[in-house]
Amino acid sequence: MSKKNEIHLQGYPICPGIAIGRPFYFTVAEENIPEFSVPDDQIEKEVDRYYSALKSSRMDLLSLQQRLQKEGGNEAAAILGSHLEIMRDPFMTVQMEEAIRQKGKNTEYVFKTAIGEYEQKFRKITDVFFRERLKDFQDISRRIIGHLRKHERCTLAELTYRSIVFAHELSPSDTAEANTDVIEAFVTRSGAETSHVAIMARAKGIPFVSNVDFPSLSISAPPQVIVDGRSGEVIINPTEETLALFKEEGNKFKIHVKGLKQSGSLEAETVDGYKTRLSANIEMFNELDTLHQYGGEGVGLFRSEYLFLARDVFPSEEEQFLVYRSIVEKVGDHPSVIRTFDIGGDKLGNFHMSRYEKNPYLGCRAIRLMLKERTVFKTQIRAILRASAFGEVGILFPMISGVLELREAKAIVEEAKQELLEKGVPFARNISIGCMIEVPSAAITCDILAKECDFLSIGTNDLVQYSLAVDRGNPAMSYLYTPAHPSIVRMIKMVVDEGNLAEKPVSVCGEIAADPRYTPLLLGLGVHDLSVSSPSLPVVKNVIRRISIIEARKLAEHVLTLSTAIEVEEVLEEAYRKLQADT
Ligand code: PEP
Ligand code: MG
Repeated sequence: MSKKNEIHLQGYPICPGIAIGRPFYFTVAEENIPEFSVPDDQIEKEVDRYYSALKSSRMDLLSLQQRLQKEGGNEAAAILGSHLEIMRDPFMTVQMEEAIRQKGKNTEYVFKTAIGEYEQKFRKITDVFFRERLKDFQDISRRIIGHLRKHERCTLAELTYRSIVFAHELSPSDTAEANTDVIEAFVTRSGAETSHVAIMARAKGIPFVSNVDFPSLSISAPPQVIVDGRSGEVIINPTEETLALFKEEGNKFKIHVKGLKQSGSLEAETVDGYKTRLSANIEMFNELDTLHQYGGEGVGLFRSEYLFLARDVFPSEEEQFLVYRSIVEKVGDHPSVIRTFDIGGDKLGNFHMSRYEKNPYLGCRAIRLMLKERTVFKTQIRAILRASAFGEVGILFPMISGVLELREAKAIVEEAKQELLEKGVPFARNISIGCMIEVPSAAITCDILAKECDFLSIGTNDLVQYSLAVDRGNPAMSYLYTPAHPSIVRMIKMVVDEGNLAEKPVSVCGEIAADPRYTPLLLGLGVHDLSVSSPSLPVVKNVIRRISIIEARKLAEHVLTLSTAIEVEEVLEEAYRKLQADT
């Protein structure tokens, strides 16, 4: 490749790492569908193309269904069965054939328009069942269009060759399904640093760059792409020279990460002997291996909803119990904090209970939804309680906005305990109950909450979003979205002070805890427990082991006097640079 063909694109770095590979355009198949007229003598060819895409989609589903049946995923296989059924519907066969002939346009365009009209009709229906059917249609439509546009595969779980995934946007369930053996990196047009997609990518260790404008790439696929998740640079058609440079950079990065990993057996303790507790945020079961490898002291936050996000049917008590028990057993002597389902916001998943809301982050999300869906909630609580018989477990409630919600949720825990007692099922009677502090009203009344629960966990991702009134997933607003805002620093201090007063442990589990620039500040503010994505454990531990608590407290005192986020960021950057230069 010559230098003049090399294209440099700049995006936001989301997850570090260097990847070199072939691009795969995920969901691009549905975007920018061209519209053109087809000469009469070519119409039959278009009809054939449609039927062959339909057939290929059927074959995909059949083989996926067989695989799921073999793996015991009978519910998921049944859903695919209903998709196969929909594909036999006259709407998908004869009516579509007729539309192609009548309109005289290219098949993708006719198909997409028909599906679009169908979607409009469905959207007006409020019945949950029909809305779920719309999702089925969208899923099928994506698959067929993928085949029409020669995109072989339609879900990230099915990708079979090593690729760099380009997408307009990814959903948390897309990312949850992503097969890390073959996905080298993500490049998206939109997506913010603390979105759930970003959290998931970091948990999986997939380099990720967002906010990349790649309008023309879908037309001619370049053979090679480089993604630098540290700087946010994406290079299309790299020259041999650039490739060699980045291969070397990639090797250096791997050596750097390997060096950090060796800190696994070391204590998370400052140079002057202040011991902290460093635990992990977990979304997937296999992250527990990373937790052990890096010496994480238990699970500080298990985002339970991720296990089930890609599913349509809500998991049974038994199924949940088996998962929670495996986590508790695998974590061993350390505690596992299981957060009850935090569904809503950008985590809509495929659950039947997900409702359309204009403003989902301020709507029926997390504990609010669970307090409405009591059967689902109690089923989960019973499953967690049962797992508590196998090791230390904490139950954590997300998005508590005041003590009444906490009381209501605790009452359900009591009911679930009673039910288990009556059946003679063992569980830990004194199981700890915690509140997430991620809504400003909870932060301000944390003294009241602390009296009625056993621990507090500060979720800065949402706390920033709700305090500064900026959508955490909106990159256009990211200039306002920062945990360095003095209001956030003060709130963390307030919660830690109140927690200490009430003798209730306080941890920080938002992404700020995994950002090494913030580690000295958090320790200096009095935070003792940090819960971070498992791949970040070594980076944070490394900083803890190089700072002194006395210096960290001085830094925090100084930061508390500052007036703007920019000043706070500058001071933290400077302290971090100094720390790096000193070692
Ligand atoms: C948070 O809001 O900081 C948090 C940890 O929860 P989540 O990112 O899952 O919303
Ligand atoms: Mg949150």
